[in-house]
Amino acid sequence: MNKSKIWLSSPHMGGTELEYIQDAFDTNWIAPIGANITEFEHDLEKYLSQNIYVTALNSATSAIHLGLILLNVKKDDVVICQSLTFTASANPILYLGATPIFIDSEPETWNLCPIALEEAILDTISKGKIPKAIITVHLYGVPYKIDEIRTIADKYKIPILEDSAEALGSSYKGQKCGTFGDVGVFSFNGNKIITTSGGGAIVTSNYQLKKKAQFLASQSKDEAPHYQHSELGYNYQMSNICAGIGRGQMKVLNQHIALRRAMHDFYVSLFENIPGIAVFSTTNPDSFSNYWLTSILVNPDETKNGIDRETIRLALLDSDIECRPLWKPMHLQPLYENYPFYGNKVAETLFERGLSLPSGSNLTDSDRDRIQTILLKLLS
Ligand SMILES: *Cc1c(COP(=O)(O)O)cnc(C)c1O
Repeated sequence: MNKSKIWLSSPHMGGTELEYIQDAFDTNWIAPIGANITEFEHDLEKYLSQNIYVTALNSATSAIHLGLILLNVKKDDVVICQSLTFTASANPILYLGATPIFIDSEPETWNLCPIALEEAILDTISKGKIPKAIITVHLYGVPYKIDEIRTIADKYKIPILEDSAEALGSSYKGQKCGTFGDVGVFSFNGNKIITTSGGGAIVTSNYQLKKKAQFLASQSKDEAPHYQHSELGYNYQMSNICAGIGRGQMKVLNQHIALRRAMHDFYVSLFENIPGIAVFSTTNPDSFSNYWLTSILVNPDETKNGIDRETIRLALLDSDIECRPLWKPMHLQPLYENYPFYGNKVAETLFERGLSLPSGSNLTDSDRDRIQTILLKLLS
């Protein structure tokens, strides 16, 4: 038996990527500028909406860092962030010497809880500081409570940095995720719904902010014949080679979304009659999820023989099927445990019971058979 490993979410090339890389070689734009970058940015702008400007960068982490700078976050400022997320959502707060405040999830979308958010804002204001930004996340591609969060942000005049790293192609009331924040962010890391091997983008409806992002990402060069700098710059540009991969990937983005959603449907029907397993799904008819990763919650009080998340995780790993607990909440991370947290135990319980399952757009019928066989043997 020589079965290959089934990955959680692996790169899936569409077939035309190499042509754009060849272009870069043919024209010798082996650099962080070139036609692939401009065209990849245009493709994304066209995909997202009419009045949106995109700057391609070398990662979403860089994009969040620059985004916070664009929102004027400085040393000793307070920045609010969803706790249940990947550490890259929060780390740039510390890069800037600012203080993170973490917020619990609500059970419907697993994202920022509006009640805990407002409590945190009021408490911070009562201590004499107005939070400088709110970092929101569409976890696993599921839109957060966009209207509720926007209402609170506007009430206290706090800008939103929308971490849409996992949500390219998701939408809310027909509008694409990544375009709701004052600044939005995408990731094209190898495990995301499309990839440039590594990469990210910053998104804004303000052309001046786009120009500023480009300026900061390319070492903040003043206009002068020599290199002159009056501001601190960064080397965060995307490579023209990577952008070539991105152009090819944009051609298959909609196909990838359909295939990821088909993986979600596969798990929904697989677990339909299995007690104790709930597949995480959008319940709001206004929300459309790309279902980047399909995740389940395991309730050992209801499963056969009290099987818990760890038993399922280890059984899958034992069969060379990759799966992973949900993101460990930031307020439980050693790095962040001493920063304020507002909320209860929603994120913590999700972390205890949740498991992300193989969700790639490149999984085959035989992969699905293997996954199904193991899960049914264990749970039915
Ligand atoms: C992947 C991811 C990031 C980081 O993206 P990179 O491009 O790898 O820097 C940030 N936030 C979330 C929620 C992510 O899933």
